[in-house]
Amino acid sequence: MKVYNSLTRQDEELQPLAGDEIRLYTCGPTVYNFAHIGNFRAYTFEDVLRRVIEFNGLKVRQVMNLTDVDDKTIRGANAAKVPLADYTKTYKDAFFADLKTLNIEPAEVYPAATDHIPEMIALVEKLMAKGIAYRSEDGSVYFNVRKFPGYGKLAHIDFDHQQTGARCAADEYDKENVGDFALWKAWEESDGPVGWDSPWGRGRPGWHIECSAMSMKYLGESFDMHTGGIDNLFPHHENEIAQAEAATGKPFVRTWMHCAHLRVNGEKMSKSAGNFFTLRDLLEKGYTGREIRYVLINAHYRTGLNFAFSALEDARKSLERVDRSVALCTDGEAPDWALKHLDDFAKAVNDDLNLPGAFAALFALVRDVNSHNGGSVLSVFKRMDRVLGVIFFGKTEPAGQKLPDEVEALLAERATARAAKNWAESDRLRDAIAALGYAVKDSRDGQTCVKK
Ligand code: AMP
Ligand code: ZN
Repeated sequence: MKVYNSLTRQDEELQPLAGDEIRLYTCGPTVYNFAHIGNFRAYTFEDVLRRVIEFNGLKVRQVMNLTDVDDKTIRGANAAKVPLADYTKTYKDAFFADLKTLNIEPAEVYPAATDHIPEMIALVEKLMAKGIAYRSEDGSVYFNVRKFPGYGKLAHIDFDHQQTGARCAADEYDKENVGDFALWKAWEESDGPVGWDSPWGRGRPGWHIECSAMSMKYLGESFDMHTGGIDNLFPHHENEIAQAEAATGKPFVRTWMHCAHLRVNGEKMSKSAGNFFTLRDLLEKGYTGREIRYVLINAHYRTGLNFAFSALEDARKSLERVDRSVALCTDGEAPDWALKHLDDFAKAVNDDLNLPGAFAALFALVRDVNSHNGGSVLSVFKRMDRVLGVIFFGKTEPAGQKLPDEVEALLAERATARAAKNWAESDRLRDAIAALGYAVKDSRDGQTCVKK
């Protein structure tokens, strides 16, 4: 399995640093609002990565942090006049529900920043002891980028270390404003009740120190992979490397991967630009989790993806085609013509997660199944779906018996009616299916139909 490493800017064979397990850290959500589908492009990319590693027979230990203290969460909680923990809980819960809707495999650990303040303080103390961090007049603590010679190696910028000396208190800034960044922020009036005692006075951690402290706690001082959206590359990931490597003297992460942005009319989808859709917005419009997942993963993760409703419509049609083909198939030993497509599929996913190539193999299989009028191909579809997570096997009965065409046709009509929220029509079709001796059940993933 080869992946593109942002650090070396090369495709590299993925080999675990130890044993048969890949230790993976994925930057998670800031829980101050509902995540938008741009965020979910990053999380579905990471889910595909995880599934491809597993597809190759390796284990994954994934850690995804929850940023539940930062400028945005504090502002939100104080404006709503509720404790920070109550404010963030709503969005943490929503996030986990959304992961389920998108069929994203859960990570092994979801550490919350507010549960790891002592670990962050300990890491800052280590940097202070080494003379790499310093306390400013107001009681904040900064990382001195001139003291870490490797600074800029991920973003591939060669800073003139003599020139920098400015400080940047904000968590997010661009390359032009590089300077010493905050590890610990002194308490301010606007923080209200939020704050922790530290050797430098009351305050709260900076955003970057959170990920260094929590990743090393759960994955060790050196681990395999670290990922996020491309906007995380600088300064967030650059700063994570600086903090960790300056403290331990060991290489922090071997492979860095970043996905390109989801855009709307050519612009990055983001809360601040106001051009975003949450997952809930799309569900309310009648699209399903798997249709949205299909759109998010059906592009190469390193190419920009422009969001359009027409893509969701196409996803619906494509998935219906797959469902119809799957319904023709049975269990049993797969024929060579099907295994060939599985081979193409494996080659594609192992080539830096080439999902467009993987979907091409899936649809080549669908065409072949249709021309053979079925076959013992279910195992091949299931193997592909180990990575894709979008195929619906519900319409086929456990014994592998396919539903009568008449029932299939009614189910397809009913899916369309439900998507249009035409509940009366949906009920009428349920009765029509029942009259043929079949029962339909609805779930988030669509309809399941079994013989009564
Ligand atoms: P945030 O909550 O802003 O820290 O973002 C959480 C994750 O979503 C990070 O990995 C970001 O890089 C990623 N992300 C944010 N906006 C987009 C977007 N429009 N497209 C893809 N990934 C994004
Ligand atoms: Zn992070």
